[in-house]
Amino acid sequence: MRTYFKTAMIFCLFIFCFIFESNAYCLNIVLDPGHGDKSPGCAYTYDGKEIIERDLNHKMARFLKDELSNYKTKDDKNVNVYITCKKNKNPSLYERVKFGKKHNADLFLSMHLNAAPNREIRGAMVLVTHSHYDPNNKPTENNNKTKKKSVKNDLYVREEKIAKKIIKNLKNIGVTVPKNAKSNMAELKDGLLRRPADDGDTYPNGDASDWYGIIRHGVRNGILAVLVEHAHLSNSDDYYSFLSSDDKLKHLVHADALGIADYYGLIFKK
Ligand SMILES: [Zn+2]
Repeated sequence: MRTYFKTAMIFCLFIFCFIFESNAYCLNIVLDPGHGDKSPGCAYTYDGKEIIERDLNHKMARFLKDELSNYKTKDDKNVNVYITCKKNKNPSLYERVKFGKKHNADLFLSMHLNAAPNREIRGAMVLVTHSHYDPNNKPTENNNKTKKKSVKNDLYVREEKIAKKIIKNLKNIGVTVPKNAKSNMAELKDGLLRRPADDGDTYPNGDASDWYGIIRHGVRNGILAVLVEHAHLSNSDDYYSFLSSDDKLKHLVHADALGIADYYGLIFKK
């Protein structure tokens, strides 16, 4: 009986350590290459070759995963990086975020390229939430009254911080950041795009939810989720400067890595 008890104790300790180690002490980053399978995203022809957004997004996610594996947290823990899907799969936006939830994502980074009918338009933007709703913050009488205002370190604040760091690093390598613009549908400020849903859908605090699914599902699940439109595939300058070779794509996602490393205070291992 005593041996049984001892074995059970050791087993419980093992499980406890495993959960503690995998959830609490590592940084979990989930990369989500936009599109997949028969959903190609945008596509443009350069030098007689069709260049498909899906293919570049998946390459960028692999390159960024490789680069992030060179980092550790400042308290010497691993950075775990997961990719939501392979190129031949196209899970729904909800399933992609669910994958992030399953892997206890500290950060869910959706990776895309932009396109515009006006092919002069170029540059990067990051989609973030427009709302201060955060299911991690339990409503109190105080923050119920001030629901439109920031609660310390809520998803809005954290998404804004990390998105600004990514934009800053993209700008450093020469990617254009668009001018600020505001309409009744969306606000673009300092490269950050906030767009509320316009179909009447709301978060539990009464705010309109977010228009884009990855951001909306991220907020509903309490996950820091941002979507980076790295450059415009529709613009030839962006294409030839940042997208036309593997080395250029690696250079582009290096900016993501620097932004992420700066936000989390990561240390380069080598
Ligand atoms: Zn896309």
